[in-house]
Amino acid sequence: MEQTDVLIIGGSAGGIVAGITARRHYKDAKITVIRKEKAGQVLVPCGLPYIFGTVGTPEKNIMPDALLSGNNIELIVGEATSIDRKAKTVTTANGESIGYQKLVLATGSVPIIIPIPGKDLENVFCATKDVDYLNGLLKTLDGVKDVVIIGGGFIGLEFGDEFKKRGLNVTIVEMLPHCLQIVFDEGFCVLSEDKLKERGINVKTNAQAEAILGDKKVKGLKLTNGEELKADMLFMCIGVRADTGLAQKAELQIGETRGIWVDEYGRTVDKDIFAIGDCAEKRSFFTKKPSALKLASVACNEGRIVGANLFGLKRRNEGVIGSFATIIGEFGVGQAGLTEAAATTAGFDFVIGEVKTPDKHPGSLPGTKELGMKLIFEKASQEILGGQVYGGSTVGEVVNILTALIQSRMTANEVATFQFGTHPLFTPSPVPYPIANAAEIALAKL
Ligand SMILES: Cc1cc2nc3c(=O)[nH]c(=O)nc-3n(C[C@H](O)[C@H](O)[C@H](O)COP(=O)(O)OP(=O)(O)OC[C@H]3O[C@@H](n4cnc5c(N)ncnc54)[C@H](O)[C@@H]3O)c2cc1C
Repeated sequence: MEQTDVLIIGGSAGGIVAGITARRHYKDAKITVIRKEKAGQVLVPCGLPYIFGTVGTPEKNIMPDALLSGNNIELIVGEATSIDRKAKTVTTANGESIGYQKLVLATGSVPIIIPIPGKDLENVFCATKDVDYLNGLLKTLDGVKDVVIIGGGFIGLEFGDEFKKRGLNVTIVEMLPHCLQIVFDEGFCVLSEDKLKERGINVKTNAQAEAILGDKKVKGLKLTNGEELKADMLFMCIGVRADTGLAQKAELQIGETRGIWVDEYGRTVDKDIFAIGDCAEKRSFFTKKPSALKLASVACNEGRIVGANLFGLKRRNEGVIGSFATIIGEFGVGQAGLTEAAATTAGFDFVIGEVKTPDKHPGSLPGTKELGMKLIFEKASQEILGGQVYGGSTVGEVVNILTALIQSRMTANEVATFQFGTHPLFTPSPVPYPIANAAEIALAKL
């Protein structure tokens, strides 16, 4: 039987970072990753949509195995099928046993398929992280004209935008009043929908899928209002569920949002078993309530926490802030922390500061875009709770600045006077600098 000090099940975002961090903190430990993907086949999960219009093939969207070998981490390609917590062993599908001192579950998530008639027809696809599956999708796309995407979250929009780049006729069907409604306030959702429409993508909101039509292959989608949409491919993008099969079999506790329950150090109910990433339950940074948020950035952050904690607790998880950005054509939009709607649901009393400014200075510079920002501050503590931004490609890093301010629990006064650097070609002007300015506007309301 093979024996290792640290065994990580899962070799994607969370598992890789947990392994690298463990190597940094425990130089002499034997560290092993077991994962299902063959050598050279771990996809960059967030890059999946870009295979279809920008990058070209799944093979160009791969995380290098050198991340493991370069850090002296052993790789086993295979499937873990059971955990014996008493004997501290993991069994694989081909009958091998691996002994561990510390085990990290990083088994991720799988797409949710809506159980509607027609879900098993040919040409029904979803965002599955598998090279062969995505090559099959790529091949199918060659013979397709009309695509309907069920789900107007950021992943649905990204696939829609990429399919459009191939010249396909794309319709996005969203059951809520707006696309992106779970992550943005209404104004930002409307702006994003306008950009989709400008790019020729059909957007149907308040629209619910009832049945996928067709005999063998997809021919269309029927909505609950009776409308029928023509389609020769159907792409389901309604979210993912935590892959907790192994954990449940091993009788580890499952949390309220159906992820593996962990404490603030990333430990499951078994002190030698940790869980990270999409398979693990999270807590909100703001309310400490269970959160089902699933992001690669969060998985990697948890990998950095757990990788350090394996043989002695060093890092504590303060909960998920939730930050992300996306892009429709050249329109970037992103969010950190709570939206106005989420802050209201959580029970906060808050004020808002909103600004618009060119993202370069002077605004006559070529390529300048309008950058719009909305910051939210809690009234009692005056701490920043969240921010939403739209603009160009700088949005991604602006969101990260906002995340750092939120994590530091900075007050409106501190945000208004935070120190930053500017350059005409890179940033807005220091005079109306949007983060400081939005904080000043909010401060005046406190
Ligand atoms: C299309 C798309 C776009 C996205 N875009 C973004 C983005 O822009 N930003 C962002 O932050 N997040 C994004 N996400 C979310 C992000 O991809 C996930 O949060 C991330 O992949 C989670 O990483 P993970 O390591 O927890 O799990 P996963 O990536 O799901 O990996 C799970 C790993 O576990 C292995 N595994 C599972 N079971 C077993 C077993 N029994 N034995 C052995 N191995 C096993 C798998 O083989 C795999 O290696 C996107 C997701 C999708 C689908």
